[in-house]
Amino acid sequence: MKKIFFTPGPTQLFPTVKAHLKQALKNDICSISHRSKIFDEIFANTVRNLKKLLNIPDEFQVFFHGSATESMERIIENCVEQKSCHFVNGVFSDRFRQNAQELNKKTQVFKVDLGKIFDFDNCEIDKDAELICLTHSETSAGVMIELENIYKIKKKYPDKLIALDIVSSAPYASPDFNKLDAVFFSVQKGFGMPAGMGVLMVNQKCLNKARSLQKKGLSIGSYHNFLTMNEYALKSETPETPNVLGIYLLGKVCADMIAYGIDKIRKETEQKAELVYNFFENRKDYELLVKEKTARSKTVINIETPGGSSPIIQKLATKGFIIGSGYGVFKDAQIRIANFPTHNKKNLEALLKLI
Ligand SMILES: *Cc1c(COP(=O)(O)O)cnc(C)c1O
Repeated sequence: MKKIFFTPGPTQLFPTVKAHLKQALKNDICSISHRSKIFDEIFANTVRNLKKLLNIPDEFQVFFHGSATESMERIIENCVEQKSCHFVNGVFSDRFRQNAQELNKKTQVFKVDLGKIFDFDNCEIDKDAELICLTHSETSAGVMIELENIYKIKKKYPDKLIALDIVSSAPYASPDFNKLDAVFFSVQKGFGMPAGMGVLMVNQKCLNKARSLQKKGLSIGSYHNFLTMNEYALKSETPETPNVLGIYLLGKVCADMIAYGIDKIRKETEQKAELVYNFFENRKDYELLVKEKTARSKTVINIETPGGSSPIIQKLATKGFIIGSGYGVFKDAQIRIANFPTHNKKNLEALLKLI
């Protein structure tokens, strides 16, 4: 039976990925040297397309990591001497905090329960916090922070660095990079690609911070520290043998999304999200986890299942529709439905009809 994955990641492959994979095999992409001109061109093409798709300013450097979790660790190592500040509203933002603590940094934490929102106006960030970490769409909760709230923080604390996780909101997310310093995602969610690659974009302020830490004799990590990665990125290469196939596919998928129209993708994402939210608003046997409408993620929708999540998950699976359970301890109490560019309206309507 043909399956359609509405899981929050890995998810259904973006429709063009299979053809690009075939072409990649035909072109021996998996065997070429990462020190060859062909690779340099692939790297440069991917960076160019990604920058165009997400409107990333020239001054930003693009780094390829193994995962988004790795990007979190690298950001802490390279941007924090003593203290980072974390807005924790679910599992992934908490992982960011945990990474900082495991790297022996002090942390300031603003924490809310799953599905709840921050009272940003009453969050005073410590003077000695060097970096502020936020998650645009917290995938474990289906909560989205309005970008305006993040820009306000930047305005109030212009000297602090801001790191934004857009793992499950990109490429729907269209943040103003001029108001951010480090932004990252991984490819198995909104880009609909095979897992195994994280992408981190950093500005010159982050690179300068890494330089100052290094000058002080502090460790900023080894081969994936910002300075080594920057040195290689300037010649369209990576310090190690990277995920060449992933870099190749990302460039292709970005080009496809540009050709289709990223504004159209974003508009359709909002329309599909409304469809799903309206559907569950009108159901007595389900409840939406996030009550504040403006805080509802457009890309990951969390629904509480008073009768347990497994009956509905199993029923849908018999029809080929794969949806996510709740995250961690909420496994049986919730379901999660992803709404990424790969998910078209027709399939989404078919899914809702079965529910
Ligand atoms: C999935 C996810 C991550 C972790 O991504 P990996 O690629 O598995 O490291 C981090 N943040 C958010 C918001 C996510 O949804």
